[in-house]
Amino acid sequence: MCYFFAEHGFGALLRAAAEKYDIFGPAQREGRGVYTRLSSNGATFDTGPVRTVDPLKAFFFKPRECVADGFSAVPPLSENPPLCVVGVKACDLKGFRIQDFVFAGDEFRDPFYSRARNETLIISSDCTSALDTCFCEAFDDRPYPRGDFDLNLSPVDGGYVVEVGSEKGAALIASCPDVAQEATQGQTETRDRQRDEVSARVRQNLKDYRVPRHDELAGRVERHYDSLIWKDEAATCVECGACNTICPTCHCFFLYDQKNVARMARFRAWDSCLMKGFARVAGGANPRRELSERLRNRFEKKFSFFPKVTGEYACTGCGRCISACPGKIDIRRVMKRLAEHV
Ligand code: SF4
Ligand code: SF4
Repeated sequence: MCYFFAEHGFGALLRAAAEKYDIFGPAQREGRGVYTRLSSNGATFDTGPVRTVDPLKAFFFKPRECVADGFSAVPPLSENPPLCVVGVKACDLKGFRIQDFVFAGDEFRDPFYSRARNETLIISSDCTSALDTCFCEAFDDRPYPRGDFDLNLSPVDGGYVVEVGSEKGAALIASCPDVAQEATQGQTETRDRQRDEVSARVRQNLKDYRVPRHDELAGRVERHYDSLIWKDEAATCVECGACNTICPTCHCFFLYDQKNVARMARFRAWDSCLMKGFARVAGGANPRRELSERLRNRFEKKFSFFPKVTGEYACTGCGRCISACPGKIDIRRVMKRLAEHV
């Protein structure tokens, strides 16, 4: 069953959530959404028309985190209240399929990531527009969530059609019995029509930029392994790492120790496979000394390694790396070049 929450009713739902969770959601700054703590800065809540500038992964795999304190065998897990993240878009939710494989697999479960995944409440929302750089449909993904959420919001006149995706989401709805109504057929039809319109807009992007579909990429990195693509594209890369840090699926990190007289601690921080020292080992040997080799490695991971081991491309089509790259390296252009016949 789908619910309808009028805007004021959704406010009541958020207030109920705030009793247990620290709430974050997109605040619009200079026309772009940025995840912000909603309860403390007084920002007007808005699900946002498209994905935020910053990726969702930062709530689960933090840019920098203390992972060991002194010689204690107990991981220094945060004592802060759990998070509720509102307005998450489908392309960020797809990132979980890669991040879960890395941090919450069968052989090893990262305690920091796993705890955040178990405790965080995700209230996702449909995209109501698309950026020129959006291309999620190339991977048969849609600009509206189809799973991996606790509740999903579809904005309609006067409020939201709300879909329940988990027991956690159902429990939150049950805590607001006075404001939850059953969505009417007209409201769910409006939702479906809006979804189709935004999907069509993204598919138009694929046509306008001639972005290949995922099935045209199968085996293509291998076939283009020695191609000039990599040297050409790497020519403008300045090794800033923005493409990695902004990406909802990139997950590499490095560890470092900090100590002073009072404390010794180990930290984990995001790393970038485009940086020269990324794969360097003790003694100075480096399997990817050339920048073009490092750029190829990034695409190999996304379009070859992850489809083989998880069945998923490690790209959600969010387009963040296109906007972030100062070298104007456009992943859609690389995909187009890969899809071309050798
Ligand atoms: S590779 Fe680029 S488009 Fe794909 S998920 Fe990462 S940031 Fe988004
Ligand atoms: S964002 Fe662009 S310039 Fe920066 S490391 Fe990535 S590809 Fe290179």
